[in-house]
Amino acid sequence: MSFLGPASRLAFGVLGLMMSLFLLVDLFADVVPDRADTAARLRGRLSESLAVQVTALVQADQREALDRTLKQVLERDKEIVSIGVRSRDEHLVALAGPHLAVWTLPDGERSTLTQVRVPILEGGAPWGETEIVFRPVLPTTFFGWLADPMVRAVALGILLGFPLLYLYLRRALQYLDPGSVIPQRVRVAFDTLGEGVVILDTEARIMMTNKVFKALHPQAAGDLTGRIISNLPWLVAGFGADKDGYPWHRAMKTRGEQSDVPLELSLPGSSEPLRLLVGAAAIEDGGARLRGCMVSFKNVTALHLANTQLLATVAELDRSQEQIKAQNAELARLATRDPLTGCLNRRAFFEGADALFADVPGGTRRISCIMSDIDHFKEFNDRYGHAVGDQVLQAVARSLTSGVRSGDLLCRYGGEEFCVLLPGLDAAQAASIAERLRSDIERHAGPSVRTSVGLTVTSSFGVAELRPGVGDPAALIDEADKALYMSKRSGRNRVTVSDGTAA
Ligand code: GH3
Ligand code: MG
Ligand code: MG
Repeated sequence: MSFLGPASRLAFGVLGLMMSLFLLVDLFADVVPDRADTAARLRGRLSESLAVQVTALVQADQREALDRTLKQVLERDKEIVSIGVRSRDEHLVALAGPHLAVWTLPDGERSTLTQVRVPILEGGAPWGETEIVFRPVLPTTFFGWLADPMVRAVALGILLGFPLLYLYLRRALQYLDPGSVIPQRVRVAFDTLGEGVVILDTEARIMMTNKVFKALHPQAAGDLTGRIISNLPWLVAGFGADKDGYPWHRAMKTRGEQSDVPLELSLPGSSEPLRLLVGAAAIEDGGARLRGCMVSFKNVTALHLANTQLLATVAELDRSQEQIKAQNAELARLATRDPLTGCLNRRAFFEGADALFADVPGGTRRISCIMSDIDHFKEFNDRYGHAVGDQVLQAVARSLTSGVRSGDLLCRYGGEEFCVLLPGLDAAQAASIAERLRSDIERHAGPSVRTSVGLTVTSSFGVAELRPGVGDPAALIDEADKALYMSKRSGRNRVTVSDGTAA
């Protein structure tokens, strides 16, 4: 019987009980009329009326009519096997059916259910007897039994009753307490766990929930035993629409485990959801048959909050670091640049120049220097004011800045003097650059001063290159400065290359 489920076993039991009860009631209350009694009554009446007919025919001495009547009665009534009419002298006067073979009632014995004798009187004196053999009331063969209406009714009752009872009980069992199969000590053990735990059967019906789970949500506090977990909207809304995606379904399908499936549980009256990590593990019995699933709910709301705060702090730190970086860059700019023109200040320039010269092993590398000085700069100050003088300085610085390469060092050397160190270039190359710078200043610097129209700004240039004997930046700059002086002297707005003799 162990292969049958509880519903079918119960259905068998209930059917058996109902049959026993029915038989018991019948025993005392005679619900079903006794077939033997009924048969005896009917057969008695039939025999009486047949005897009356036979008596009439015997008295009228109508033998042929008697034979006919007996045959007709035999044909009409399937209950009757044979009929015989016997005179007092034991002589069979008429018969129908195999009467000689089937009549067994000894003389003088009382009628039975199958062997009935009724006396025939003639003129008040006994003339003989009508003997009737009936079929047995109850079936005597197996197939006779099968054809019996009572047996059929019982068989039909079992055949129809069992499936109906089975279906009803299967449904009813869901509403009974399936969780009662879990022993109390197991429940207590689950209650001591720090995580919410739900035990499911194979149909995902809840068998048990522990204390922590009941405390997760107001709707979890009630008795959920027997409910299908996937049908609890407040619980599964956070998983999305894919029902096969529920961790318990996947765990039972794969007979494995699911872990750390994130779930947000909305709490009534709270804008912040509960953040859970859901795990599920299939439960198998000793025979590796699936028996259900254990689902765990780990509350990580506090952890999540701490994590969010940490992330915010890290982002804030990142922002401050960016600010510090920007401020440091600004500080570095302020420390190394001339605020008016944006060119390197002298300190930063000489630092760069020293590094450049340190890179030159034994003077094998070329470095050239351009010194530049704005022509008659004082006049801009005197004629237009200091502010315009400043703008002229800025305009010239713009031309110089855009005219040199990124690796060159451009410095505001003095008031309106600029110095450029050009690594890798000889004097001729530097002179052509100086010439380009000179022309650029002449064409663009004056017009770019917007506050005063028609200014003509020019600069004079001196160029020198690193040669043997000129070992440090100051010496190279000095030589370029001397060449610049030559430009001033020979009419300004021009480029003079040092030939080395001026040093
Ligand atoms: P030269 O062609 O011979 O170089 O004549 P110059 O007038 O340019 O030369 P000078 O050395 O006589 O004049 C330089 C002037 O530059 C003197 C000084 O007042 C002015 N100066 C220096 N620094 C600044 C500054 O930052 N802003 C302004 N507006 N003027 C400055
Ligand atoms: Mg000048
Ligand atoms: Mg000057």
